[in-house]
Amino acid sequence: MKQNDNFDLQILYAKKFNELSNVGGDIRRMFMLGQKLLQENPQTDLIDLSLGNPDLEPPEIVTSSIINVLEKHEKGSHRYMDFAGLLDVRKFLAQELSKSENVKINEETVYLTVGAAGGIHILLRIFLDQGDEAIVFAPYFPEYIPYITNYNAKPIVVCSNDFHEPNLDEFRDKITEKTKVVLINSPNNPSGVLYSKETIDGIVMILEERRKKTGQCIQLISDEPYSRIVFHEKTIPSILERYRYSWLIRSFSKDIGLAGERIGFIAWSEDKTKLGFINALRNSARCLGYVGAPRLMQRILPLVYNARVDVQIYEKRVNKFIQILSEAGIKTIQPAAGFFVFPKSPIPDDRAFCETLVTKGVLCVPGSGFGCPGYFRASLTQDIKRIEEAAKRISDFKKYI
Ligand code: PLP
Repeated sequence: MKQNDNFDLQILYAKKFNELSNVGGDIRRMFMLGQKLLQENPQTDLIDLSLGNPDLEPPEIVTSSIINVLEKHEKGSHRYMDFAGLLDVRKFLAQELSKSENVKINEETVYLTVGAAGGIHILLRIFLDQGDEAIVFAPYFPEYIPYITNYNAKPIVVCSNDFHEPNLDEFRDKITEKTKVVLINSPNNPSGVLYSKETIDGIVMILEERRKKTGQCIQLISDEPYSRIVFHEKTIPSILERYRYSWLIRSFSKDIGLAGERIGFIAWSEDKTKLGFINALRNSARCLGYVGAPRLMQRILPLVYNARVDVQIYEKRVNKFIQILSEAGIKTIQPAAGFFVFPKSPIPDDRAFCETLVTKGVLCVPGSGFGCPGYFRASLTQDIKRIEEAAKRISDFKKYI
């Protein structure tokens, strides 16, 4: 290669290099600060509450099911398949979801995906074009921003109230003729809040109002990877039952502890089948390069669907952490699900606070990265003793800020 070619390549890829260096935003930055600290002082006792990587092992039935299906040695069972997933698995999910979501779902309205993230991309690729707008509610999962901009669309952020529920007046005001998608996440990462029935009904009412006024069919995507790790068996309002233009996305990353195995699904209600949506999804996934969700995981789904990690373990950690923080005057909205907590930062500058915490041996993520400055997120994916220790170090903040 000539020197000039090399130079051209560098310019061509400059944007990509830039993107690469920003991978993970605030979460990654905190992780790197922790790494730096460890390099400088390998003896540091660092408690990492930055990454949302679930630590509870999958229930035993998962391992035994994998072994059982492999031992059957069914011919062809590792080959390519319909992009939408194995028919019997889609039928199984359709049956389960028809019961739990209170709408008719069939095998043509369920699509197996590479985790929830894969499902979100399949849908955003269908609905978003250059210049379109997609609304997200703060606090939001930070990855939503690059997911949306990946399709040259614009993320529009709507703030929440003090209880981390969406501000519905602001939501109504921020809808424009360019709004194509509303992406919600309840139970929420980072706050753990489960949107109330009133909030969900309010969102739907505003979307219906808009449709009646302008004819605009805004798509409502409900990203629910934490829906089956809800404390006290609280029920989740069914989105599909409430709004015709809605899409349910779930995965087994957190509730069964299969984050690395990349399995999830999209489901929608039966009345859209006539529009042949499943083919649009097949095509979208095809262009994204996913040739179906991992087949071995699909095969075990019917066998493990009702299994869960022990949600009480997460709940105990959450309660202990919040109790210690509240004794020190740090306020937190009580999460209803999952393993994240999202306390108020004791100082207004959440980034400065989290950076100081690193020097005390605790990694948390500033709320700014979730669209909510003045808060911080702790991922309680550590043993309860470590979580207690982290909470005590955080509670000592008056000594160091
Ligand atoms: N959506 C939210 C809100 C998440 O927190 C995550 C993962 O942390 C994802 C989507 C991605 O989930 P999955 O691993 O199933 O792709």
